[in-house]
Amino acid sequence: MVLLLFGPPGCGKGTQSRLITSWLKIPAISTGEMLRAEIQAGTALGQAAQSIMAGGGLVGDDLVNEMLLQRVSKPDCSPGFLLDGYPRTVEQAEYLDRVLDDLKMPPAVVLHLDVPNDALVGRMSSRRQCPKCSRVYNLLHQPPRVAGLCDDDATPLITRKDDREEVVRARLEMYDCLTRPVLAHYQHTDYFQIRGDRSPGYIFEEISGILEPRLGNVQQAMEAG
Ligand code: ADP
Repeated sequence: MVLLLFGPPGCGKGTQSRLITSWLKIPAISTGEMLRAEIQAGTALGQAAQSIMAGGGLVGDDLVNEMLLQRVSKPDCSPGFLLDGYPRTVEQAEYLDRVLDDLKMPPAVVLHLDVPNDALVGRMSSRRQCPKCSRVYNLLHQPPRVAGLCDDDATPLITRKDDREEVVRARLEMYDCLTRPVLAHYQHTDYFQIRGDRSPGYIFEEISGILEPRLGNVQQAMEAG
């Protein structure tokens, strides 16, 4: 099964990605995380992406598409995978269609986490992240057990540079102009809109209710094919 988590920055994609992939045992692919890893490693791609990301813009389609192709072609992705933060433009969505076709994977199931813009700015300013395992916390709704430290590996949590308010606003603008139009591309696929302004556990329950009946179909199709 290929899952696509869609929604504005700060809508809770990272949190749901963690819950879904530990349930389904499929890899989570976050292009944002991959780009941050490239920056940290000081690669040419990281250098190209750094200033764009710091300003809240989108990294070029060609760079991101190539990075995505390399990742989904790895053997751990053959049973399926979850995409978080990709595709973010219509061109990326068209590219993904071709990649899935080439890899003989089924079309993606699209889960759209919808949250009003007003709620997002506040959420992102209280967001903290573990720089080691990338787990995301929110000081208001999902604080770590010990203040300032990751529950999983006790690493001190950080605030992402692009979570500053003016950058957040630029990211939301990018989302409205370039990413929201991608939804039209998925009109005729398995598409589900989910209200993201509720607690993570409640949202996950809704998502698992959507996916559970589809898991059987996927298994049957794999056995038949
Ligand atoms: P969020 O969803 O909270 O904005 P991400 O970690 O997904 O955070 O992305 C952080 C930044 O990485 C984006 O603002 C953008 O600059 C870059 N980025 C991530 N994914 C893509 C993509 N698919 N296409 C272009 N740029 C991307």
